[in-house]
Amino acid sequence: MKEQFKLVATAAAGLEAVVGREIRERGIDCQVENGKVLFAGDVRTIIETNLWLRAADRIKIIVGQFPAKTFEDLFQGVFALDWENYLPLGAKFPISKAKCVKSTLHNEPSVQAISKKAVVKKLQKHYHRPEGVPLQEIGAEFKIEVSILKDQVTVMIDTSGDSLFKRGYRTEKGGAPIKENMAAAILQLSNWYPDKPLIDPTCGSGTFCIEAAMIGMKIAPGFNRQFAFEQWDWVDKNLVQQVRDEAEQMADYEADLDISGYDIDARMIDIAKKNAQEVGLADVIHFKQMRVQDLRTDKVNGVIISNPPYGERLLDSRQVDVLYQEMGQVFAPLTTWSKFILTSDEAFEQKYGSVADKKRKLYNGTLKVDLYQYFGQRVKRNIN
Ligand code: SAH
Repeated sequence: MKEQFKLVATAAAGLEAVVGREIRERGIDCQVENGKVLFAGDVRTIIETNLWLRAADRIKIIVGQFPAKTFEDLFQGVFALDWENYLPLGAKFPISKAKCVKSTLHNEPSVQAISKKAVVKKLQKHYHRPEGVPLQEIGAEFKIEVSILKDQVTVMIDTSGDSLFKRGYRTEKGGAPIKENMAAAILQLSNWYPDKPLIDPTCGSGTFCIEAAMIGMKIAPGFNRQFAFEQWDWVDKNLVQQVRDEAEQMADYEADLDISGYDIDARMIDIAKKNAQEVGLADVIHFKQMRVQDLRTDKVNGVIISNPPYGERLLDSRQVDVLYQEMGQVFAPLTTWSKFILTSDEAFEQKYGSVADKKRKLYNGTLKVDLYQYFGQRVKRNIN
C-alpha cells in the first residue's frame, strides 16, 4: 500500500484560487493551475479533503504522467504504472473518461480501450493470472481517467465518486439551481463572515443560505454522503470513521447566525426548508415567501447574495429587466450592505442602475456568468 499520493482537486473555471485557499487553510501546500489544484498527502488527506473542501469538484489521485504520441507509447506508459498498489484482484476499474486536447492521439474511445488493456495486462502479470482469461470485475470500483494534453498523458483515479457538489441535502432543486460548491465558493469570495447578516432574496432551493449556515457552523460539507474511496480495501474504515468523528466534534451548532432566504415562489420556499432540514438546519435559516421588491431591513453591515432569474433561464427578458431595475431601487438604501449578484445578463449594471465595484467571470455549468460585487460602506460607531 502507498503512503503518499500525488493528488489533484478539480475546480470550475474561476474558482481554482478558492479551492487553493481552502487546501492551504488545512495546512497543505498546493499549486493552483487552470481548472485544478495540485497537492500531496496520505490516505487521511484523501479522506479529509473529500469531506471538507467546499469549493472543489472532485479529488483524484495522479497515478502517473508520461509523454505519448503513439498507442504503443500509451500502452507501455500505462502498463509501467504501479497499478498493483491501488487495484486489488477483483476490483472494477473502468476507464471512465478519456480526454485528448492538442495531442497526436485524439481518438478518445481508442485511448480508453488501449489503457484498459494495459491495466489488465499489468494486473494479470502481478496477480499471476493467465493472459487471455478476462479478469473478473466484481469488487469495489476504481474509476480511471486518462487525460492527454499536448502529448503528455496524466492517468488518475477518482476518489470522490459523485462530484463533491452533491452534498446529499438537496432533495429537490427547482428550475435553475446553483451548484452547492459554486455557492460555497462565492460565499468565500464575498466579504460575508458568520457574524454578519446574510440575505438571499431570490433563494430558490436555498443553496446559498444552507452553504452559509454550514460554513458558519463549521459543518463538513460532505458529512451527509459517501465517497468512492470508502469501498476500497486499503482505506482503513476506522480512519474514515475517525475523520468523520473529528468533523462532528468540530461542528458548532450553537453558532449565532442571521441568515434569511426569500423567494416569490412559495413552492421554492417549501423545497428550501426541506433541504435545510436534511442538514439539520431547519431552525437556523429564516425562509419566507417574499418578493425582492418588498425587501426592507434596519440591520447594518450585512451581505446580500442573489442569483436572480436570467433571461435565458426562467423569465422573459422584459420581466428580467424590470426585476433588475427594482432590485437596484430596493438595494440602494441599504448603503452599509454589500451586494453580490450572479447573472449571465451582460447589461445587468445598466438595468440595476449602478456600476459594480468589481466583476468576476464564472461558469454556472457551461453558462458564462458574472458575479457583480458592490461593497457596503461600513457604519462607524459614534465615539462620545
Ligand atoms: N440560487 C437558487 C436558484 C435561484 S433561481 C438555487 O440554488 O436554487 C431564481 C429564483 O428567483 C427562483 O426561485 C424564482 O422563483 C425567484 N424569483 C423570481 N422573481 C422573484 C422576485 N420578484 N422576488 C423574489 N424571488 C424571485
